[in-house]
Amino acid sequence: MSDPPDAGGDVPVLLEARDVVRTYRLGSRRGEDPVEVHALRGVSFEVDRGDYVAIVGSSGSGKSTLLNLLGALDRPTTGVVRYDGQDVRSMDDRELAALRNGSIGFVFQSFHLLPRLTALDNVQLPLVYRASTVKERRVRALDALGSVGLADRVDHRPTELSGGQQQRVAIARALVTEPPLLLADEPTGNLDTTTGGEVMALLERFHRERGMAVVVITHEPDIAARADRRIELRDGLVLSDTRRDVGGGR
Ligand code: ADP
Ligand code: MG
Repeated sequence: MSDPPDAGGDVPVLLEARDVVRTYRLGSRRGEDPVEVHALRGVSFEVDRGDYVAIVGSSGSGKSTLLNLLGALDRPTTGVVRYDGQDVRSMDDRELAALRNGSIGFVFQSFHLLPRLTALDNVQLPLVYRASTVKERRVRALDALGSVGLADRVDHRPTELSGGQQQRVAIARALVTEPPLLLADEPTGNLDTTTGGEVMALLERFHRERGMAVVVITHEPDIAARADRRIELRDGLVLSDTRRDVGGGR
């Protein structure tokens, strides 16, 4: 995508992390010093609209902690996360809920589907909080399930679906609100290589067709190699941030 630089009001930066620190304080017994885990120790980068970023790094390097902060599921100990220029700290609960529910899609390794609900009801969930009619929600959820190739599985519950199908339901749920950003934490971690590749191809289609930014955590080199940009974390710091050289490009 070619973004016009400095087009007033049309800033390409979607998400910004500035000196983000996250320290977990583990519950200590009375009189003992609390144990601190320095999960992130000062992380800064920007994600543009339509970016496709892989976040890599060994287990414990802070990847999930970072993704939770980018998705406003958690707050930094110090530092700033801005979504569309707005400091997430300045948002009240209603604004945060609207951000998480409407502007950001989440996909997790273990799918996080509600087991008692059908695929259709799982996908409708993010729409329940929106001003839309029952019929409209149903139409949109059916459309989303169709777009991930599950039109014939809408009445199935998660246990009646394969892992790959469950992840596709989770993707439909993440995308049903048509968010500008998708955050995925090891989305292929529970899938075999072929199915994982299919799931990534699906995310990439939404990235291409809708210009949706994708930030995906992975420890699989094959998955990371598909992204346009690769950020490597080590011990809570950015070790490298490299953009793939597109032939003939910049
Ligand atoms: P990754 O996703 O790269 O494996 P995490 O972000 O999950 O890494 O974890 C980074 C560090 O923070 C690890 O040392 C982990 O043990 C610790 N950690 C993660 N979540 C918590 C938590 N809720 N409470 C305490 N420590 C945590
Ligand atoms: Mg993790």
